[in-house]
Amino acid sequence: MEYDVVVVGGGAAGLMAACTAAQRGRHVLLLEKMDQAGRKLRITGKGRCNLTNTNPLRDTLPHIGSSTAGTTKKPGQSGGVWLRNAYGRFFAPELMEWFEQRGVPLNTERGNRVYPASGKALDIFLALIGELESNPNVTIRKNTTVKSIKVENGKWKVESDASASKEFSSFLFPLSTRIILATGGLSYPTTGSTGAGYRICQELGHTIIEPLPSLVALKCQEKIPQELVGFQLRNVQLSILNSQSPIFNSPIGEMTFVNDGLAGPIVLSASRIATRTLHSGETLTASLDLKPALTPEQLDRRLLADIDASGTRIFNDALRLWLPAELIPLALPQLHIEYYKRLHQITGEERRRLRDWLKGVKFTITGTHDWNEAIVTQGGVSLSEVNPKTMESRLVSGLYIVGELLDLDADTGGYNLQIAFSTGHAAGEAV
Ligand SMILES: Cc1cc2nc3c(=O)[nH]c(=O)nc-3n(C[C@H](O)[C@H](O)[C@H](O)COP(=O)(O)OP(=O)(O)OC[C@H]3O[C@@H](n4cnc5c(N)ncnc54)[C@H](O)[C@@H]3O)c2cc1C
Repeated sequence: MEYDVVVVGGGAAGLMAACTAAQRGRHVLLLEKMDQAGRKLRITGKGRCNLTNTNPLRDTLPHIGSSTAGTTKKPGQSGGVWLRNAYGRFFAPELMEWFEQRGVPLNTERGNRVYPASGKALDIFLALIGELESNPNVTIRKNTTVKSIKVENGKWKVESDASASKEFSSFLFPLSTRIILATGGLSYPTTGSTGAGYRICQELGHTIIEPLPSLVALKCQEKIPQELVGFQLRNVQLSILNSQSPIFNSPIGEMTFVNDGLAGPIVLSASRIATRTLHSGETLTASLDLKPALTPEQLDRRLLADIDASGTRIFNDALRLWLPAELIPLALPQLHIEYYKRLHQITGEERRRLRDWLKGVKFTITGTHDWNEAIVTQGGVSLSEVNPKTMESRLVSGLYIVGELLDLDADTGGYNLQIAFSTGHAAGEAV
């Protein structure tokens, strides 16, 4: 069969691109490296797939970042601006309708996060793959790892792993064939995304903004007491500071302690802002506010009242008035207040030290966890080299680049899958 479109990579972006192109009557060949497509998609949202978010567009854009110079006013913050065109045509309402029309009812949960009503990511995958498998114009080749894409003697030359698929070990397509590259980033490499697309794009002349792990736990220098590992804090707030000033303030939320640092929702968000600075070898400070609902003055008044009311209690024991017991082994060595003092013996200076600690427990952040744990990749193909309306490369005519391979990354909340679906859809419409 002659193919109009070759899609490389059967993740969220590639599947949506293939569906959209096939729906428009294009003959599509989908090449997927693994024995099954959509491996990552099927584990998203802890197996429940938070496929999008119903926040309006203006509230969505600040959740999306890019490191490509010139795409944003504030680096790393608003790669969403680049996506405006694609989102204008295929955003959360259109995506939700797409799945609902294919028999996948959806639910919107806390934080406007959208999930399949069944609670199964598999249903999202099955809707996409079912659409492709039922279309006679679509051919799917699994176990096919594309190694390189070149333009040679007026043809596309697509070389794939011979051991995986002899049939396509080296294949020539006319230049009129459109190629959509959707090989993903570098996170969770066991799902198939091992960064092949970066090399392929680089060989075709593209600039790759160095990929870094993002939405990932942060390592800290301080020793985390064993009792704290796995312990979850709720209603806390985290700020990240460089030597001069805060560079990130999280909303009030949850975090967890891990062996060598901090994890959990507010830490993942912080990692998006921290990862590039940390990668350059700088350290950062994380400041954890355990009482974000109280101003320092309100907290001081509360401490005074508690000290007055319980003056004979021993400090070590009284700390439970203000902290979960699990945090006491972290607090005591840092507070430099004798644990056996009675509360009425606590000096004003000591009380202020306690207040300041509760409002800002400091951790020296030295790095991030690795690709095996990072939810997404920050960096990728420079947005300045891709047309935001069509996802076509500005350097190689007929090549389209979509999904996590692009220099785009977003907060948790369904924003990353929406990027994959919207960019995949834009390319599928354009080819
Ligand atoms: C554990 C986890 C949970 C997540 N949960 C959510 C969530 O709930 N909501 C959300 O918005 N985002 C979530 N994400 C992020 C989201 O899954 C990704 O942003 C999204 O899947 C990216 O889609 P993609 O199609 O660009 O890449 P991928 O999904 O990585 O797909 C790339 C595909 O290309 C194939 N491939 C790679 N190289 C080649 C090659 N050389 N030849 C042929 N095929 C190749 C791979 O095998 C893979 O199938 C999660 C990520 C992880 C790791």
